[in-house]
Amino acid sequence: MEKGNINIQAENIFPIIKKFLYTDQEIFLRELVSNAVDATSKLKKLASLGEFKGELGDLKIEISVDKESKTITIKDRGIGMTSQEVKKYINQVAFSGAEEFVKKYKEDDKSSGIIGHFGLGFYSSFMVAKKVQIRSKSFKKSKGCLWECDGSPKFSLTDSEKKDRGTEVVLFVSEDAEEFLEETKISSLLTKYCKFLPIDIKFGTNKRTEKDKKGKEFEIEEDNIINNTNPLWKKSPSKLKSEDYTTFYRELYPYNFDQPLFHIHLNVDFPFNLTGVLYFPKVSPSVDLNKNKIQLYCNQVFVTDSVEGVVPDFLALLHGIIDSPDIPLNVSRSALQSDSNVKKISSHISKKVSDKLKKMFKDDRKDFESKWNDMKLIVEYGMLSDEKFYDRASDFSLYPSVEGSFYTMKEFSEKIKDSQKDKDGKTIYLYASDKNSQHSYISQAQDKGYEVLLLDSPIISHLIQKFESKLENSSFVRVDSDSIDNLIKQEVKVESILSEKEKEKLKPLIEKALPKEGFSVVFENLSPSSSPFSITISEFMRRMKEMSMTGGGGMMGMQNMPDSYNLVINSNHKLISKIIKAKGVKKNKLIQSSINLALLSQNLLKGELLTNYIKDSFENLKD
Ligand code: ADP
Repeated sequence: MEKGNINIQAENIFPIIKKFLYTDQEIFLRELVSNAVDATSKLKKLASLGEFKGELGDLKIEISVDKESKTITIKDRGIGMTSQEVKKYINQVAFSGAEEFVKKYKEDDKSSGIIGHFGLGFYSSFMVAKKVQIRSKSFKKSKGCLWECDGSPKFSLTDSEKKDRGTEVVLFVSEDAEEFLEETKISSLLTKYCKFLPIDIKFGTNKRTEKDKKGKEFEIEEDNIINNTNPLWKKSPSKLKSEDYTTFYRELYPYNFDQPLFHIHLNVDFPFNLTGVLYFPKVSPSVDLNKNKIQLYCNQVFVTDSVEGVVPDFLALLHGIIDSPDIPLNVSRSALQSDSNVKKISSHISKKVSDKLKKMFKDDRKDFESKWNDMKLIVEYGMLSDEKFYDRASDFSLYPSVEGSFYTMKEFSEKIKDSQKDKDGKTIYLYASDKNSQHSYISQAQDKGYEVLLLDSPIISHLIQKFESKLENSSFVRVDSDSIDNLIKQEVKVESILSEKEKEKLKPLIEKALPKEGFSVVFENLSPSSSPFSITISEFMRRMKEMSMTGGGGMMGMQNMPDSYNLVINSNHKLISKIIKAKGVKKNKLIQSSINLALLSQNLLKGELLTNYIKDSFENLKD
């Protein structure tokens, strides 16, 4: 029997690791099972190269929990280790990893959360165990060995009688980690981290009843294999049907009943290795954006599903799996975010996504259009957050008109370039955000022969801001932001029928009849056929407010700003002349009714005002 001291500097590394990895204790299982998978894969590889000539036998890995002895055992039939190898790999390699962790931990700001995803390989077993045994026998001709360590830098190593090839790691679970002796706990961890590992993993057994030929029931006990060793993203796309992708989506998200819109199969060897499958979910503007659906894997081992900051924001809205050996497993979150491989992977995926969208657009535009409204939010989000994606998306991002035709921005610009220029030669893009509530504004614009886009994403005001900075000499104006003649200003000057004096007299009467706050009265010399009273909301103010509500930096305070409306009075409408001439009660009634109608058309007539309006209208009908 050999006793010894593990060659490390810091005597106190155990308590540090125990204490600070506490929140992520559970990764010990991921680490130990991954080691078992590696050892098994190595043996398979050696066998395929002819360097291992023995029987491979049943290679499944077995996890078991013994509540009596309070142990968890991870058993594999892989290459195993000789006692020399245990010294080398466990005493030196594994422990140097642990030492490195402590060093990094000390360098880093302790509050920065470096602990988050710091796996430690074999060493992490001490997060839950007060004693660990390794019983191993190498595939090479040698004796079995037994290594034992109680979490201090002291270890013992003896020969053992182990007969079969492979390694068993036995964790003697410490008092404060006894939750890991619960089968449900282990089972959920295996599902989380090991669901797609490439070697069968057995945890317990299942009983099943079957009937024999005579109809007599009998029980069959079979291994409970927790993983799918050949997940879809590892297969060749050419061999897969579209149902296979839907089925796999169900496997990933059993509780998500929506069908994904389409998928992208990632399969890259160069300049880095990357596989995976991404699904475009249906995203409706009203649904809360769920950013934790995409999962990062490293060689089929689950790493994390909190990818915010790791992949571009808009990709975090996708569902599915990204698997790459270049995604570092044993690093903190902040290291993951700044890792250059991870960055390359991100921008590559972003490119793949735009390529796929472009191809779909080209191959079947009608089909693409039918999906557009369910996916536009992700694309628009991408255009806002990733400059390169913005450029690429201009080929396929679509903007529907209120009539339901879809245009690219280029096509739309072409369509309106002659008819929607203002007096200064600026092209004016008119849009609405809601076909119903802005109906009267939309139809006025259409009567003038204008095209109106329907832009209804919650982040559209940010995107519009971007368009205005990119498209030359253009501006975007919502149909209800000004009176119709002013939306696209022309040179023609219309004289006012009302005199300044008449306006001055009328203004206070109208102000009195308006709701107390938020309204300004403006007289405009519009054409006699334009609406006599209308309510508009300044494009600038509304957009600023919308942007601050959806996260516009520096404008946060604006969320609380009251809305401000203009009551536009068309000085040239006959009704205004009639009001001027009317006297007493009749005059006030005309004013009040007109204002009510204007409010009604913007859906602003509410509460008492609405009640009174309805009451009065009925009264009027009666006479
Ligand atoms: P890593 O797996 O990142 O190399 P670990 O600390 O997990 O680091 O393991 C250190 C080394 O110990 C491994 O590289 C491997 O050589 C050896 N090892 C660990 N577990 C096993 C096992 N189940 N079978 C064979 N060798 C193992």
